[in-house]
Amino acid sequence: MFDFTMTPEQKKLRDEARDFTRWVPKEMILAMDAEQIQFPHEYLREAGRRNLLGIRLPKEYGGRGLTWVDDSIVAEEIGVASYSLACLWGVGADIVCEAIMLFGTEELKQEVVVPLLRGEVYAAEGLTEPRGGSDFFGATTVAKKDGDDWIINGQKRFIVGAEGADWFLVYAVTDPAGPPHRRMTAFMVPRTAGVESKYIYGLMGVRGGGAGRVIFNDVRVPERYALNGINGGFDVFVRMMIPERLGTAAMTIGSVRPAIEIATRYTSRRKAFGQPIKNYQAVGFKVADCVLALDAARSMVYTTCLAVDSGSVHPGRVRRMVSQSKKFVTEAAWDIANNCMQAVGGIGYTNIFPLERIVRDIRLSMIWVGTNEIMEMIIQNEWYKEYEKVLSKEPVRDVEDDAANATQSDEKVYE
Ligand SMILES: Cc1cc2nc3c(=O)[nH]c(=O)nc-3n(C[C@H](O)[C@H](O)[C@H](O)COP(=O)(O)OP(=O)(O)OC[C@H]3O[C@@H](n4cnc5c(N)ncnc54)[C@H](O)[C@@H]3O)c2cc1C
Repeated sequence: MFDFTMTPEQKKLRDEARDFTRWVPKEMILAMDAEQIQFPHEYLREAGRRNLLGIRLPKEYGGRGLTWVDDSIVAEEIGVASYSLACLWGVGADIVCEAIMLFGTEELKQEVVVPLLRGEVYAAEGLTEPRGGSDFFGATTVAKKDGDDWIINGQKRFIVGAEGADWFLVYAVTDPAGPPHRRMTAFMVPRTAGVESKYIYGLMGVRGGGAGRVIFNDVRVPERYALNGINGGFDVFVRMMIPERLGTAAMTIGSVRPAIEIATRYTSRRKAFGQPIKNYQAVGFKVADCVLALDAARSMVYTTCLAVDSGSVHPGRVRRMVSQSKKFVTEAAWDIANNCMQAVGGIGYTNIFPLERIVRDIRLSMIWVGTNEIMEMIIQNEWYKEYEKVLSKEPVRDVEDDAANATQSDEKVYE
């Protein structure tokens, strides 16, 4: 986030997050990238020890009761060390715990949120299935009632932290005949009999974060572990779009920021044809464009955080702003990572610099927590609804009438 917008408390918070990011051992980052580590328990324990997990959640459950602006300040710094670590930092504490805080029982808050924010347990989020992730309504994992319990059968895939998770937030069909918005339930499922995780993917980047397949084979879960009640899963899913996507936008800014710093230093020192390559506009403008894109991305995230924090912006508009932030930031980050590698040249393609890891990691950001095509669909839907219902009724000058022949209504043919 921009330092000139920060209060002294926010600067202190940022410095705490920076200190934590400096703590991350280089060996951990490299071992995760080499998949010698499959789940960095130590990282989450340290984050918990420093009270840097779930900082928006209430203090009595271990959070700090802070805002989205604060969360994004921290997320940006957390993203700097590694995208994989940032994903784990966000999924358990910012996504699953928020779902429990908003929709769960006191028992789940005590059993999951409190130890998770201390870094002692981890919870993964399971939406995506082998037959499709974008199509939430097409889930085939089912839960059938058996006495006071529900029996879950099905599979989820690409689940970040599956290897280390003690709990899973799982969406399952509980009323196959019900309308799309009332047929699914979000269950908190402990790692219990019938839950199996498989670490099987050769990921391009974001490695070492335990992303795997999770299989549920006759898993018995009490009904009180359902968030927002039976068949209330859609509301949980919609609400979780905020932490999933705004959190991703904020941490992506941090993960790509080092690419600009590396490229700036390198192009200032590296000489070709007798002078530093930053003096050639083809190189210097590339880096300048990256700086511009990052500042624009950060501005968008900051504004969206303010909108969410205000609590007074219409949920549809919030959905649009969050989706815009996710799409804009992640596409900007991808361009930035590539342009920084280009500005550095051949050595940027090697593991002498971490640029190649940043490029591999950042690529995920356009795919996960909803692809950017899905973001575009949401932006389109929400914009047309908002325009028709709200913006078109505002008392602003109608510039359509300012054309010389605007009154020739016969020429305005729409069908
Ligand atoms: C490393 C990694 C970590 C992940 N972590 C998690 C996690 O922790 N939890 C979790 O639940 N999921 C996770 N995911 C899954 C991720 O969110 C999905 O991969 C993503 O939502 C897309 O789903 P899909 O892969 O099934 O692609 P599909 O849904 O099959 O989509 C394929 C393509 O079709 C496009 N498409 C689909 N429908 C439409 C449409 N209506 N209009 C336009 N285009 C469309 C998509 O944009 C995409 O380009 C992770 C994925 C990866 C790779």
